[in-house]
Amino acid sequence: MKARGRLPTLGARRKRLLDQQAALIALTRSDVFNRENLQQALQLVTETGARLMNVERVSVWRYSESRALIHCVDLYELSKDLHSSGAELEARCFPSYFEALTTSEAIVANDAHTHPQTREFSDSFLTPLNITSMLDIPVRLHGRLKGVLCHEHVGKGVTWTAEDRLFGVAMANLISLALEQRERSRAETALRESQQRLATMLAYAPDGIVVLDLDTGCFIEGNARALQLYGMDREALLRVGPAEMSPERQPDGRLSSEAAREWIEQAMAGANPVFEWMHMNAAGKSIPCEVRLVRLPVSDRRLVQGSINDISERKRLEVERARLNNRWRLLLESAGPGIYGTDTQGRCIFMNRSGEAMIGYKAEELLGCNMHEVIHHTRADGTPYPVDECPIFRAFQVGEPQRCEGELLWRRDGTSFPCEIAAYPIVNGGVIEGAVVTFSDISERLRSQDELRRLKDAAESANRAKSEFLASMSHELRTPLHSVLGHAQLLRRQEGLLGTQVKVLGIIEQSGEHLLGLIDEILDMAKIETGTLELVADHFDLNRLLETIASIMHARAESKGLAFASSTSPALPAVVIGDERRLRQVLMNLLDNAIKYTRGGTVTLRVDVHNSRVRFTVEDTGIGIQPQHLPEIFNLFHQVRDPAVSVEGTGLGLAISRRLTRLMGGELEVKSVPGQGSRFWFDIQLPAVPGAVPASQTRTAIAVEGARRKILVVDDEEDGRGLLRDLLVPLGFEVYEASDGEAAVREAKRLRPDAVLMDIRMPRLNGFQATRQMRHTPSLANTAIIAVSAGAFAQDRWQCIEAGANDFIAKPFRQDKLLAVLCANLDLTLVYADDKPASTSEGAGAMVVPEGEQLRTLLDFASRGDIQSFLQQVNHVESLDPAYARFVQQLRIHAAGYRMKELRRWLKSFEPNDECVAR
Ligand code: ADP
Repeated sequence: MKARGRLPTLGARRKRLLDQQAALIALTRSDVFNRENLQQALQLVTETGARLMNVERVSVWRYSESRALIHCVDLYELSKDLHSSGAELEARCFPSYFEALTTSEAIVANDAHTHPQTREFSDSFLTPLNITSMLDIPVRLHGRLKGVLCHEHVGKGVTWTAEDRLFGVAMANLISLALEQRERSRAETALRESQQRLATMLAYAPDGIVVLDLDTGCFIEGNARALQLYGMDREALLRVGPAEMSPERQPDGRLSSEAAREWIEQAMAGANPVFEWMHMNAAGKSIPCEVRLVRLPVSDRRLVQGSINDISERKRLEVERARLNNRWRLLLESAGPGIYGTDTQGRCIFMNRSGEAMIGYKAEELLGCNMHEVIHHTRADGTPYPVDECPIFRAFQVGEPQRCEGELLWRRDGTSFPCEIAAYPIVNGGVIEGAVVTFSDISERLRSQDELRRLKDAAESANRAKSEFLASMSHELRTPLHSVLGHAQLLRRQEGLLGTQVKVLGIIEQSGEHLLGLIDEILDMAKIETGTLELVADHFDLNRLLETIASIMHARAESKGLAFASSTSPALPAVVIGDERRLRQVLMNLLDNAIKYTRGGTVTLRVDVHNSRVRFTVEDTGIGIQPQHLPEIFNLFHQVRDPAVSVEGTGLGLAISRRLTRLMGGELEVKSVPGQGSRFWFDIQLPAVPGAVPASQTRTAIAVEGARRKILVVDDEEDGRGLLRDLLVPLGFEVYEASDGEAAVREAKRLRPDAVLMDIRMPRLNGFQATRQMRHTPSLANTAIIAVSAGAFAQDRWQCIEAGANDFIAKPFRQDKLLAVLCANLDLTLVYADDKPASTSEGAGAMVVPEGEQLRTLLDFASRGDIQSFLQQVNHVESLDPAYARFVQQLRIHAAGYRMKELRRWLKSFEPNDECVAR
């Protein structure tokens, strides 16, 4: 559409007026203005204005918040049919124009370049956009300037008519209308939202909230919690007021109506009173509540809001607490120990009856008194007890429980008693408020403890005395027995023994062994009683053990006219790990019993494998055991006294056997039929030693390989020393002797022996002490000390090892066992009699034989049978040249067996003209 040039004709003006009027009516009715969409309304205004007034640019501008500028919210350009926005005009740049906006109804500039209120735009704005005439109408809302509606004519200037101006004002009013509409709808939304928030808060408030209209005396509002509290629906609530929802009188006796009026008056006077109130719900149930009143700031009505909090639970707890307090008081009063409480200064705040009775004060007398000064002031030794050292005070000073025993508390009458005291701090919310102290008189307990200690000491010393007696008796019995058995073993080595001599030796050995068995049994009993019986596991040849036992038992059975049968399973391992001595003891005991309690028939020993354990069964066809006696036979000293059967016994055997089998991991069981016989059996684990080959027979060691070793034999008994000397010298050891501990240490320092065989019980310095001294002597660091003792308790072994001994051997010992221990500690190898003697042509090197003089001397001693001198000469030869080693070894082999004839023959073979290398 083209812009207007000149003034229009009358007809045209009339038509335009009609059009404008129609447009205004249409716009007013348009529902764009009733909606919130302001931008749409403004666009409709600018576009309609441009078209109907035939103006190129119509725009709406709005003031900024600070009113320092206006910005274009919509510009409609007619020729382009285009809306845009965003331009800004600053007030300080166009002061006349902005001034006019505030004061004028309209700025009518036919020639905008010269008009006083628009010419400011000339350069910056009018010229560049070819604007000639402007008609600007300020937009006001409720009398306040909000913006401006601008009409800008482009091209040839126009003269704005009164209708143009009126139409412009009408359009500006429409804009005001749109602005108002929007502001209203925004306010409405905000109000709605705020109301919703309030409603939500009320609905979910934990307290019941009601609004009371003082003029009607009725509630006009009540939230969900209030409805729940009163037990009624909203409609019912709005028909009542506090009068209906309260009992006639409050718990303090006041009339509810009066009390309520007072609280409401306070609220209306601007205070916010908080008070407890007894409400009554619809069902008539009393509900204790806490109420807070506040006047609502409403101009035309007298409204009070009440927040109501149900405190039934709190009240219940208060009652409960009071009841508990009573109970505690009762408990305190009835408690056995004395109990008192103090504040943080240690002053008494209560004392129970027991406490009163114990210290002789009444609680009232003590209240507020410093308890330490009254009852705890002096120590047992009579010295004052400073309060800052008192543990009870520490309880509330550091806040930790304290306990002490044996301190004295002082009575009113000046006497005291020992007591046990416990003090606990009273802590409330992290703050120490004092302490509770409990105390009890322990005089009685101390007396009985003393008595108990005395009895215990007596029992322990009796027990010690018994153990010492047993140990010493065992030692005293074993020492001579050791000598008897040792010499019997030495005698057996003699050549050419007569049959009777061998028999006598056998009897000596057997009797000795039997005696040893008895001693052992008594010792075992003592060990079982003291719980010190221990097993010593070692490798042993199971079959050999069984054969030995069988041969002994065979003889015993035979002598009683009984048959003896033994069977072993081929599945048995050859060499096993276990305590051979203890196993032998159990089996011998069972077999002895079987023979003892059998008059005719057979005694059988059966050994087989059962569930990968070895089962030992001893069966007899004897008298059997009555079922009622079966549970008792394993008791210590238990014997079934059957007048018909008279046999010897101690009643210890089965008790010891059962305990030993248990120690070995088995259980000794029995089945017996009276008159038919008994069967005892047990299963134990005897792990096989892989690859071990059992020794087929006893071998006699005759020498040791390698350099000669010095051995110091320490024993106060000449017999004991002699035994060892006789055993060791023939094997090539250099043996020295000492008869007590002192001499032993002295000799050891002088000789520096390779090993010391140390007896333990000796006068002056005993074996433990001598061993300790030697262990503190650096020059003896490499000396092996082997304790040899008749003490057979496990503790003896440990005491020896503890003192510094390398090993321990119990007397009486088997000689092969002693040699094995000695060799193990000195790293030696034994040479046995059945080892093949080396001939001159055998071996790595030829045997070197000494010259005539040495050889002759040897032959001389051998011919005279002087074995001691012979062995000394052997030692001498050995020291002359290491090359004689093999020769010397052979000499010892012959000498060890006392085979003098053979020896002589053999030595003679080296005399000159024989074929051998001689020096
Ligand atoms: P004792 O030294 O009396 O034999 P034990 O402890 O060895 O002591 O045995 C306890 C009792 O068990 C015996 O007195 C005996 O009555 C009974 N007893 C043990 N073994 C047998 C058996 N093989 N036959 C019958 N009775 C036995």
